[in-house]
Amino acid sequence: MSEIYPGIYWLKMPIPMPESTLAHVNVYLVRGDSGFLLVDTGWDTPESFAVLEKGLAELGARVEDIARILVTHVHPDHYGLAGRIRERSGAEILMHEIERDSIEPRYIHLDALLRQTDAALVANGVPRDDMVSLRDATLGLEDYVDPVYPDTVLKGGETVGTGEFTFRVLWTPGHSSGHVCLYEPERQILFSGDHILPTITPNVSANPLGKYLASLEELRQLDVSLVLPGHDAPFTGLAGRAAAIINHHYERNGEILATLGGELKTACDLALHVSWGTNASWLDLPLFHRRMAIFETIAHLEMMLADGRVAQETRSGIIYYRRA
Ligand SMILES: [Zn+2]
Ligand SMILES: [Zn+2]
Repeated sequence: MSEIYPGIYWLKMPIPMPESTLAHVNVYLVRGDSGFLLVDTGWDTPESFAVLEKGLAELGARVEDIARILVTHVHPDHYGLAGRIRERSGAEILMHEIERDSIEPRYIHLDALLRQTDAALVANGVPRDDMVSLRDATLGLEDYVDPVYPDTVLKGGETVGTGEFTFRVLWTPGHSSGHVCLYEPERQILFSGDHILPTITPNVSANPLGKYLASLEELRQLDVSLVLPGHDAPFTGLAGRAAAIINHHYERNGEILATLGGELKTACDLALHVSWGTNASWLDLPLFHRRMAIFETIAHLEMMLADGRVAQETRSGIIYYRRA
């Protein structure tokens, strides 16, 4: 654990998947007058809980001293441990209302979401044989989450005060529809969750990519001198990083348009030919990433559909795209 800013402590939580490309997930403890604010939680594993306990012990505190948990979004690495912490501490859990609404389909009654994913994969050109393995790629993740509902739902614009800090809740959709960041204008600190990461381009899938880019545009106007992200290390230079991510997505739009050429193609056809970083082709990616790549391709196509650069047609239940 390290004090990354006076009163803000950075903990690195382990990731239980050995194949994960991420080294850890960051959680932050913010000192308050009556207890700590915890920003994100880590996975629901005994190892995560132990890291949290140890970090708190270094501060002379215990899990019971966590008064509030701000969940940037309900992915298992950011939210998994929330239930267990609340059980112990009675902490108030805060998250955006859209994230609250996704707890049930993601973690409690998974059937409908699986059927929906099935249908989307098939409609976007994934062969039926591959569909099942792609659909099931995230099954089992719910084992690392202790699903719990928030005590307070956010919409964006609220203030969360703790000790000397007064954070503003910013609704930043894209990586997840109800993702929020926390901004401290006076100290120029931003908790960015998975909205902006220092080296990885956050996955944006099936949420309007246009909205994600718009919220990055808004963030880059803020005065921020320290960004505390959900993965990797804290960094400076928010505006430059936001611009690089925006640029990356415009380039990918261009790459998809070029791949489309004059033909009619499905999102799956296109995902096969986009370069997904480190000269890996789609087929070399792990299943989970292949699925993310398809949904990210769809997000790009939907953005270009909305601004009239591509057109869509459906033939025998399969969605095809062409240049408009
Ligand atoms: Zn995430
Ligand atoms: Zn994450």
